[in-house]
Amino acid sequence: MARVIVAGAGISGLTAAYALRRAGHEVVVLDEGGRTGGRMHSERVAGFLMEHGPSGMALPAPRAESLVTDLGLAPERIARAPAARSRYLVRDGRVHEVPLQPHRFFRSGILSPAGRLRVLLEPFVAAKWSDETIADFTRRRFGRELLDYVVDPLVAGIYAGDPHQLSVSAVFPHLKRLERLCGSVILAAARSRLRPGVKPAACDFAKRASFSFREGMGMLPQAIARHLACDLYLNQRVEAVERAAGGEFVVTVRERGVTRSLKADGVVIALPAYAAARTLDRLDARVAGALAEIGHPPLAVVFLGYRARGVAHPLDGAGALTPAVEGRDVLGMLFSSTLFAGRAPPGHVALTVFVGGARQPQLALLQPRELQDLAHDEVRRLLGARARPVLARTRCWRHGLPQPGLDHARRIAAITALESEHAGLFFTGNYFSGVSTVACIEQATDTAQRVQQYLASSRGRSRQAAAPFRSCEAPEKGGRSAIALRVTPAGQLPA
Ligand SMILES: Cc1cc2nc3c(=O)[nH]c(=O)nc-3n(C[C@H](O)[C@H](O)[C@H](O)COP(=O)(O)OP(=O)(O)OC[C@H]3O[C@@H](n4cnc5c(N)ncnc54)[C@H](O)[C@@H]3O)c2cc1C
Repeated sequence: MARVIVAGAGISGLTAAYALRRAGHEVVVLDEGGRTGGRMHSERVAGFLMEHGPSGMALPAPRAESLVTDLGLAPERIARAPAARSRYLVRDGRVHEVPLQPHRFFRSGILSPAGRLRVLLEPFVAAKWSDETIADFTRRRFGRELLDYVVDPLVAGIYAGDPHQLSVSAVFPHLKRLERLCGSVILAAARSRLRPGVKPAACDFAKRASFSFREGMGMLPQAIARHLACDLYLNQRVEAVERAAGGEFVVTVRERGVTRSLKADGVVIALPAYAAARTLDRLDARVAGALAEIGHPPLAVVFLGYRARGVAHPLDGAGALTPAVEGRDVLGMLFSSTLFAGRAPPGHVALTVFVGGARQPQLALLQPRELQDLAHDEVRRLLGARARPVLARTRCWRHGLPQPGLDHARRIAAITALESEHAGLFFTGNYFSGVSTVACIEQATDTAQRVQQYLASSRGRSRQAAAPFRSCEAPEKGGRSAIALRVTPAGQLPA
């Protein structure tokens, strides 16, 4: 059986490893961190459940759902609460409910009469074939106000991104496709609504149902890790991936100052783009350069727990987004205890506030206490918090989410070319086809299928089986020294 090394134990790497393992392949997963899940990290403190990364998964998500069922996690699954259907938006310093039906949205005061008229002129705007930024696309087709008050906050909410930097073809490919196919996004969306079985258009995004788990999103990577058990090694930094003269891959791994080389028939690089870039320097500096160019501005997540009676706003929705033109210090806030049950103890509410991203990267790097003060101040002004939070925690992701800019297609093409050049080398991660966990799971499952096809080829089959391992301990004991897993006769990582 061929051995595959998966670098990265975030949801992308774990999903790929799980699929390969289920197909009977020998898989070794390596992560530099002391826990699995990467950005997917839930923590319960004093009855509050904090999500340091994703809070939920948007539906439809067929592959994510079948993964959940396969893992036996279905009983732990919880749906977004009906009370969280509403969305809020900040305009003129106040939060306003955003109607989700297009006709109700249109009649609301979110857009001025002139802004609404400009949106209605969209079918008369000529189509443009080349890629452009989300800001240019929206302004050209729908006018400035829709950009400022709808698209900008949406992009901040999904990518912590700046629409003036992101590529519309990379982030909202279906919008560009609708423009190319029908000449008008509005007409194409209206026509597709009349046809059954058509994918939801962009305006349906905010309405989508979502789900999480009783003890948070972190339950998913933990469940996969339990299934992988003996094949998962933490505190292992992948430093380089190279090709040996015999054709096999050599992966250089560093653990607490000690460097080792592992051999593999196939390698799946499931690292964030900036980390993947560093591992590829020796194999292909050009592709490493392309990966390194993908920006990951810092993003801070501030969790605030309040006594329920200390917040004036009813928090009857999923959360509130703040458009850049409002000049505020936060990208938005989730009403976490409304979104999913069990996020706050009785008599309390929980909010998750996002700071930084491409809009104000420097703010994400403030000290935790400063971030908590800043977030509380915004909650006080926008939602009427009357007292200080009873619990506050901050998590700063120094490298937040990948920002697919105008050159993104060229970069992805370079990575794909490298895969073809080095059969057995595969990439997966949130910089390919979207940052959502659902997109990561889809992409990683596809990647695992490609790995299997490769291994099934004569080249993969002709490889010698790797030496069997001797012993195995339970994963993530005490959450610290993490995993001491398969151990070779010499007591080391399998070489
Ligand atoms: C604050 C925040 C909120 C989000 N909210 C949502 C949401 O509500 N819904 C949603 O669907 N998505 C959300 N996302 C996006 C989603 O969580 C991520 O896109 C997804 O989890 C990325 O998974 P990944 O496995 O590709 O990467 P990661 O989770 O980044 O995993 C990569 C792994 O690689 C490891 N690594 C890095 N370098 C090395 C190295 N040299 N050697 C070995 N290991 C290495 C890291 O330790 C990490 O474990 C959010 C993200 C963030 C940051």
